[in-house]
Amino acid sequence: MKGDHAYTELAASPVCGLTPYEPGKPPEELEREYGVSDALKLASNENPFGVPASVRDAIEGAIDNVRLYPDGAGFALRGALAEHLGINPDQLTLGNGSNDILVLLAESFLTAGTSAVYDQYSFVVYRLAVQATGAEARVSASNPAVHEQPLGHDLDAMLALVDESTRLVFIANPNNPTGTWVDGESLKVFLRALPEHVIVAVDEAYYEYAVGDGYPDTLTWLDEFPNLVILRTFSKVYGLAGLRVGYGISHPGIAELLNRVRQPFNVNNVGQAAAVQALTEQGWIEHCKAENRRCMDGMRAGLEGLGISCLPSRGNFLLAHVGQQAAECNEYLLRQGVIVRPVANYGLHEYLRITVGAEQDVARLLRVLTDFKEQAA
Ligand SMILES: *Cc1c(COP(=O)(O)O)cnc(C)c1O
Repeated sequence: MKGDHAYTELAASPVCGLTPYEPGKPPEELEREYGVSDALKLASNENPFGVPASVRDAIEGAIDNVRLYPDGAGFALRGALAEHLGINPDQLTLGNGSNDILVLLAESFLTAGTSAVYDQYSFVVYRLAVQATGAEARVSASNPAVHEQPLGHDLDAMLALVDESTRLVFIANPNNPTGTWVDGESLKVFLRALPEHVIVAVDEAYYEYAVGDGYPDTLTWLDEFPNLVILRTFSKVYGLAGLRVGYGISHPGIAELLNRVRQPFNVNNVGQAAAVQALTEQGWIEHCKAENRRCMDGMRAGLEGLGISCLPSRGNFLLAHVGQQAAECNEYLLRQGVIVRPVANYGLHEYLRITVGAEQDVARLLRVLTDFKEQAA
């Protein structure tokens, strides 16, 4: 098309180096492209059990208000969250998903001449958010494949990359796509060693799945570490990925800065209403967590039975080591209507990331993989 080549020359230089985020394939797209029906998506770590009836009702109730702008201050949701978490509302920043908070952090603290640190195999959005600002991205080497937390964050390696120019460090806990985590003890040692001018974003998108058993209780650390920003979301166990609601928890001074760059109406009114109601459904959340644990155990055992080992995981997904046939296996799964997530874009060519589905989803996945192994043999 006329003008195609010219616009990259006009673009802000950090934007020229960006490559767009590759989302999990939507089921409708697979059905269109492959002519399959009944596609099963295990590619974006969504909750297979969805939301309880009261949250559906809250969403329906909010539809009457869609002609109105949402409450830009998110008064009801911030109040409900503050009470749920035992914090002050002025410590909260609401985001259009926690992805939004990651971008707000980058916009607030990074510019050309500063640097940010993240792990080689950590959530790809950190790279995108940092690169767009023109700041220097310092990428630390992950743990080796043979390790207690294989391919997980090496906090010492991260610390070694921090200097005067560093404003932000991103820690995904647990990490996506690996599922690995850092324990409370190690994280605290890391935070104590870090200079005060460095903001640490601890991304706890899978917090509800991960909590307990050595997992850090970062919420109680904010007094000791005012440079800590905790990120959580309603997209994963709360089952509201499509409504885009996430939040940051921090020192009020950091929240105030993030709110300066935040779009005034970044969280829509249906999302706010759904999230407020979802917080009251803790019994449902416990149910989803227990089912996830049970189905993940079954999935891991089934995969291992097929000779596919998986990394340890504190999330609702497994990083499966398929081997050199990973791309071929992914293609086979797609043709059978099962969408998982290739992670070659992370440099993990031999792996597939697979969301833990409900029991029947895991059974279908394992059936298709069994067929794949048989036809490949
Ligand atoms: C899913 C995910 C998020 C963010 O999701 P939102 O839908 O934007 O809240 C953030 N970090 C990690 C590590 C994730 O896996």
